[in-house]
Amino acid sequence: MSAPCDARGSFPVSLAYSPLIAQLVDALRTLQGVGPKSAQRMAMQLLQRNRPGALRLAAALTAACEGVGQCQRCRNLAESPLCALCSNPKRDRRLLCIVETPADVLALEQSGSYTGTYFVLHGRLSPLDGIGPNELGLDQLVHYLAEAPVEELIIATNPTMEGEATAHYIAQLTAPFGLKLSRIAHGVPLGGELEYIDGGTLAHALASRRPLQL
Ligand code: ZN
Repeated sequence: MSAPCDARGSFPVSLAYSPLIAQLVDALRTLQGVGPKSAQRMAMQLLQRNRPGALRLAAALTAACEGVGQCQRCRNLAESPLCALCSNPKRDRRLLCIVETPADVLALEQSGSYTGTYFVLHGRLSPLDGIGPNELGLDQLVHYLAEAPVEELIIATNPTMEGEATAHYIAQLTAPFGLKLSRIAHGVPLGGELEYIDGGTLAHALASRRPLQL
């Protein structure tokens, strides 16, 4: 039996693959920025030239997905209830930096200029995408502030429209705690993503943070 054609008489790309290869190509497309052609190239490269690497990749992915969860305190990715940063007594718990993603934590850590702790939102307020305060763990943040010795909140959401809206929401939400509030700003380009900014610029941005006005 021949496979069905589309309206132009050519076969859909997926029908050219055997089922397992089609499944692999489809799975590779879950990677951000990977389209059908790139996914096909990756699948072929792994199957034809690097089976040991492919198996290692599969095992590492499975292990990471099963073993990596969220830190109970800061929501950063962690393999134990508390992440390495939260369980480090040398970190200054009076400073709490709020970021959108675990990649932002890495970027700030690589800048080498911050000694406080973090809270990871895993996103930003985006009502159209169904991302509200609950999805960002803001109830957890409020609980944490009620019992932690935090004195200054550095809101380091990205300087995009949604990042700014999120910063203001958090500023209002946490106002009753009377904390010093600051916003990372200087040197971070408008519309930029922290993850892609070099360490020197980030260090400068942190050092020259400004008080956040409600
Ligand atoms: Zn943590």
